[in-house]
Amino acid sequence: MASGVYRAIIRFMSETSSHCTAVVGGGLAGIVTALILARRGNHVTLIEAADTCGGLLQSFHNDDGVPFDYGTHILKETGIAGLDELLFGDFTADDWQWLDRLRVGGYFGGELYPTSQFVDLRKLPGSLRQKAAEELLALSSNQALPAANARAHAELKYGPTITNEVLEPLMGKLYGCPLSQLEPAALALVGYSRFILFDRERTRELKKDPVLDGKLGFTTWDDGISPLMNFYPTSAGVHIWLDALLNRLRDLNVTILTGTSVTGANIDGQAVRSVELSNGTTLQTDELYWTVSPAFLLKAAGRPFPQGINPPQFRSTALVNLVFDRNFNTDLYFYYCHDPQRLTYRTTFYSNLRSKDRGSAPYNCTVEVMSDEATVTRPDLSQQLLTEMRAMNLVGPDHRVTYQKVISSPKGFPLPTTGYARNSATLAGHCEGLARNIRLFGRATGKTHFMHEVLAEIWNALEPAA
Ligand SMILES: Cc1cc2nc3c(=O)[nH]c(=O)nc-3n(C[C@H](O)[C@H](O)[C@H](O)COP(=O)(O)OP(=O)(O)OC[C@H]3O[C@@H](n4cnc5c(N)ncnc54)[C@H](O)[C@@H]3O)c2cc1C
Repeated sequence: MASGVYRAIIRFMSETSSHCTAVVGGGLAGIVTALILARRGNHVTLIEAADTCGGLLQSFHNDDGVPFDYGTHILKETGIAGLDELLFGDFTADDWQWLDRLRVGGYFGGELYPTSQFVDLRKLPGSLRQKAAEELLALSSNQALPAANARAHAELKYGPTITNEVLEPLMGKLYGCPLSQLEPAALALVGYSRFILFDRERTRELKKDPVLDGKLGFTTWDDGISPLMNFYPTSAGVHIWLDALLNRLRDLNVTILTGTSVTGANIDGQAVRSVELSNGTTLQTDELYWTVSPAFLLKAAGRPFPQGINPPQFRSTALVNLVFDRNFNTDLYFYYCHDPQRLTYRTTFYSNLRSKDRGSAPYNCTVEVMSDEATVTRPDLSQQLLTEMRAMNLVGPDHRVTYQKVISSPKGFPLPTTGYARNSATLAGHCEGLARNIRLFGRATGKTHFMHEVLAEIWNALEPAA
């Protein structure tokens, strides 16, 4: 925690600094950008379109005060010492638990296994499993990668059996389109980059080969422990991190404008000089940091949309938040459902995850669904997911739901098609070319997705010598 003297110095620097920066987007990317810049004494204005900051890092509480997260649950170190110190250095044992291994499971082949999140292909019928293993081992080089689309990528990396029998149906469930329409990175975004095919000892041996290491998952989370620590609150939702980061921004004198967006960008010669805001004011700025869709920036700058760029298609999501009257039949923190016939993508069991009163009431969980709009807005969605939980024996026939809230997002996230990846790169290039003092981070670049990647991208750009 910054000392009072340090805070006073920073406050003095930012009050007297003539260097003004505008950061657009009040999600994690914008908040961390603002934090790094404000610590240098810049006068920073953070501009967030919604009524509250936080994006996917928010949580909500039901009437009984039970917390549920909106997006990201578990935080993970980036491996960059200065950045990790900035983000997690003031965590206390009262509020946070350090998780060096995550109790995570998977469901595949009609079975829930509490040992790994990867698809356990040993549950395939014998001849298919044998074929999948032979093909994967034969493809012992990654030289032909990268490929043009997710299907070509999967065939080159894993072979036709895993591609056709496993990935086509699983990715079809999550993204609603064939692999050939998706960019290669779409596989890793939903965790389909490694598979379990062999027993524990053979897997450990094979994973000594760097190429096979990228294709095979350990059979248990007890193997291959990452040196990077994970964190989750001891009793609250992940929003306490967000609250702490926003408090630090306030301490650093950052102006936080919510319910506000950029309607115009005044570019004079090679530089942005000011931005027009939806609240009718003009903000002078020496630098503009953009962490949301670059399409908004082009529009604000009054520049024509590049030819041939179509708007993205969206995949819908639903968060089905449930409280039960008794404990779950599992002690997993979360698990991934690799069953193409079931709607569940991932379920997080908060009562197993929190360390204060672990396994005690309230017995709450969030089931995440990625599907089409009609499915995520179905009135019987939570009933359907309860049926799935019972079928997978996560709860029994006697478990009763005491609270439920479905949060459906018809425009959940842009579908990572090959066209979307190309368009994002083109749009980002156009925006970066608008002026020398514009920088794009996070989803504006289309290059990073996971939280730790976004954070590392920002840190490496703003603190290159650190
Ligand atoms: C469905 C899904 C699941 C994910 N799961 C994980 C996971 O398990 N682990 C992980 O590490 N990462 C996960 N991610 C990625 C992770 O959420 C992001 O890396 C992280 O949230 C990045 O934050 P952000 O600021 O870029 O975006 P966001 O959190 O989306 O924040 C963007 C903010 O910008 C605001 N905004 C939008 N448009 C404008 C505008 N025009 N003007 C001003 N403000 C605007 C929004 O209101 C929002 O507050 C997931 C992402 C999605 C979509």
